[in-house]
Amino acid sequence: MRYAILGDIHSNLAAFEAVLRDVESRGGFDKIWCLGDVVGYGPDPHECIELLCQYDHICVAGNHDWAAISKMDTTDFNPVAARACHWTAQQLTPEDIDYLQNLPLNFCQDDFTLVHGSPREPIWEYLLGSEAAQDNFAYFETAYCLVGHSHVPLIFEFFEGVAIYRVFPEENGLPLGENRLIINPGGVGQPRDGDPRASYAIYDTDNQTVYHYRVEYDIAATQKKMTEYGLPLPLIVRLGQGW
Ligand code: ZN
Repeated sequence: MRYAILGDIHSNLAAFEAVLRDVESRGGFDKIWCLGDVVGYGPDPHECIELLCQYDHICVAGNHDWAAISKMDTTDFNPVAARACHWTAQQLTPEDIDYLQNLPLNFCQDDFTLVHGSPREPIWEYLLGSEAAQDNFAYFETAYCLVGHSHVPLIFEFFEGVAIYRVFPEENGLPLGENRLIINPGGVGQPRDGDPRASYAIYDTDNQTVYHYRVEYDIAATQKKMTEYGLPLPLIVRLGQGW
């Protein structure tokens, strides 16, 4: 069984399609594990939901998914994100709204727990530091937890009661071992680690290995659409810079 692990697609259809093509070129996948924020920021919210729904998948709820359907308000969003959120809300069909409304907060399968932010605060908490990660190992029961939200690929390994930050190695794969892990595959639609390429992971159950890949996509095509739709300039610029 091969799972494509995709986080933070953020209405970026060009990035999403490029990632799916890349997975196909590497032997394909059986199911998508999606870590939330399918919509928000980018130009194709409806199209991204529609494409995701063509595949066998499970998706957990992200803060942008909830905000787009007013399941939570945007007072904690910065003004630019809030503007994009209001635009996103106008693009959704009743079916899209229904889909986002029913996303679960977390999901467990095999040895993995899936959440958007963190196991402790599935919608809101960013896991970027070892201290917060360490506390969060008490909030899930499986061996491994997949998170998104920060759009930064990384791993925290729980070793003798301490969470150790590890770079998520590209291409070669990370064999799953005895230590518990929190894994972030990075962002598909709006990477924020200084590398503008889409970021995702594959979990292969046969060899118990998680692979991290980066994919170039047509950033200019997404930026052009965002300009045409009048989405905020900082959101357009940042895609080219990967932050
Ligand atoms: Zn996000």
